[in-house]
Amino acid sequence: MDLVLDDIKVDYRRRGATTHAVRGVSVRVRRGETLAIVGESGSGKTTIAKVAAGLRKATAGTVAWRGEGDDPEDRRPPARRVQMVFQHPMQSLDPLWKVRRSVAEPLRRSGLPGAEVQARVSELIEQVGLAPSVLDDYPRELSGGQAQRVAIARALVCDPEIVILDEPTASLDQTVRSRILARLSRLQDETGVGYLMITHDISSVRRLATRIAVMYGGLIVESGPAEQVLADARHPYTRALIDAVPIADPRVPWKAVAPLRRGPDGTFPDVACPVPGSPCARHGTGLHPIGPDRLVACTVR
Ligand code: ADP
Ligand code: MG
Repeated sequence: MDLVLDDIKVDYRRRGATTHAVRGVSVRVRRGETLAIVGESGSGKTTIAKVAAGLRKATAGTVAWRGEGDDPEDRRPPARRVQMVFQHPMQSLDPLWKVRRSVAEPLRRSGLPGAEVQARVSELIEQVGLAPSVLDDYPRELSGGQAQRVAIARALVCDPEIVILDEPTASLDQTVRSRILARLSRLQDETGVGYLMITHDISSVRRLATRIAVMYGGLIVESGPAEQVLADARHPYTRALIDAVPIADPRVPWKAVAPLRRGPDGTFPDVACPVPGSPCARHGTGLHPIGPDRLVACTVR
């Protein structure tokens, strides 16, 4: 089953002010594939991740499971079929619990016998590339990379269909990041899990993404198969993101050339196009198809 977000809008209200954080986003996360959502800070990525994970209600729009292969035996509530891994692994781990308990916790209510729970936990710890001895460690005894692997094991323990990864390697150094990406990729091959991966990091996108959606100011401005978007970016904002990265050095994070400018009403008046004088710079344009599974919000040819 695919996880389908349709025309999601999210407003935050704080002290009388409204922020239109997400202004109408539709994405489909498919089993066995990785959809990468990229975009600079403040563009609404984490908000979308939380809506997809069921951790936040959208102001408007729907989240649904669709597609072939619905298993009638799978009576898990939708919330257990999607799991989230946060940027900071400690957000997923209780500091007072040993790793063994944290990883087992999502399984406990499944009614599985204790021995089977333990076997599953040990299997997962091995699959994420950790030694069995970490099961008896507390989170504070782990390195950042180890803790994120534990968080990934915990997310996978109930065999979810989709895992949402919000900047999963942003707090880790390059070597550890690379190993975790390799691990995530292998786990996907082995289990068929689908990833919604949010990232700033172009090397992560190149290595893992099947499809890419570029977010700017609460909207998707371009999407499509990863290799097409990377090789033939059409929206000026996507080009700015990609061009800011010398491909020879994938450690440099993506960086937008034009910072987001929010208008007094909380919207982004110049969201549509950072190119001065372009036809859609003033009022924006919706996404339109330029090929199979390929959308762009740009009227410039
Ligand atoms: P990203 O993950 O791309 O950096 P976020 O989804 O975190 O973006 O935030 C999108 C916008 O919503 C930002 O302007 C941010 O300041 C605002 N925002 C996020 N969370 C809240 C909140 N809980 N209350 C008010 N505003 C928020
Ligand atoms: Mg974020």
